[in-house]
Amino acid sequence: MVNQERMLNEFFELVRIPCHTGQEREIADLLKQKLRALGASSIKEDNAGDAIGGNAGNLVATFAPTMEGLPTIAFTAHMDSVEPCAGIEPVLNDGVITSAGDTILGGDDKSGVAAILEGLRLMKEQQLPHGKIVIIFCIAEEGGLRGSKHIDTSLTQGIDYGFVMDSSGAPGEIVNSAPGQNAIRATMKGRRSHAGVAPEDGINAIVMMGTALARMPYGRIDEETTANIGFIDGGIATNIVADECRLQAEARSRNADKLQAQTDAMVAALKSVESEFPGGHAEVEVVQVYRPYTIAEDHPSIRLAKRAAEKAGLTATVKGTGGGSDANNFNLHSFPAVVLATGMSKVHTVDEFLLEAHLYQTGEWVYRILEEVLHTAGH
Ligand SMILES: [Zn+2]
Repeated sequence: MVNQERMLNEFFELVRIPCHTGQEREIADLLKQKLRALGASSIKEDNAGDAIGGNAGNLVATFAPTMEGLPTIAFTAHMDSVEPCAGIEPVLNDGVITSAGDTILGGDDKSGVAAILEGLRLMKEQQLPHGKIVIIFCIAEEGGLRGSKHIDTSLTQGIDYGFVMDSSGAPGEIVNSAPGQNAIRATMKGRRSHAGVAPEDGINAIVMMGTALARMPYGRIDEETTANIGFIDGGIATNIVADECRLQAEARSRNADKLQAQTDAMVAALKSVESEFPGGHAEVEVVQVYRPYTIAEDHPSIRLAKRAAEKAGLTATVKGTGGGSDANNFNLHSFPAVVLATGMSKVHTVDEFLLEAHLYQTGEWVYRILEEVLHTAGH
């Protein structure tokens, strides 16, 4: 079904284009051309690039319906990659696609982009009737989901549900639940003094932080909740009682109440030292990075993705994940979205790879979803 040579060539073409986060102009322009050639009835670029200081916005393309009474479905992927992603040269060896040198491969998320394009191309070739289809290619997914966070929601109105093509795991895997994340930033403010001459005049901010950390819950809290201390710095020299120590930490949970409870516990641990170090202060800031979501297993999007996976000869499974994706933002402010696995492996490392078979299977899965959607309204 999938035109393998065409799909492999297109995947190689896509990963060769530099696309650092915030620098998606070149790939966005190429994707506009491709969407036009596939028959998109409208292609819009929003202003999210301005909000994040990038040189391109999110692309939202619409394919007008050729049949009435069908749900409006969206397929999404992101255009940016983590570093190192300059000069990617893809290589195929024994059914495994890797990069040739010291770069990532970029299957995260060009495997998703390629699958969407191939699915649409098959739809066109087969003259498959379809409802309204919306394709969203996001900027700046890496490092905080900022593209989908700033998407122009007037462009995503009326979408019944969507599929975010952006997960590791074998094609057939459906991710229906992901954690929310809070970032916790803290600064302990002590009092500077000479460590040899007048240590009793000082309040050591590093010790304040250490005291707080010793009582802070972290690591795996429970099945759906985790926390991490990611960064710390402070102090100037051994002969100075440190007056400042800074910390960055995070909490994640698939359960919003548990996320709040874990965040509160971390903040409480930080604040608790103020009473033990009179004159010292704990300044704590909590920023919501993204919110958790769970899509019920009997939701139409999951039933559709499962049936389509089986038609494509794949094993359909449904599970939660520990990572965030653009689906967090779509679920929050646009439309119900699940994440589909594309086979991308060891992502965000120079050892990243993609099985050739998984590339083609994901393309076929997208096409089968487009085909199966015809059965959702009695057609
Ligand atoms: Zn990704």
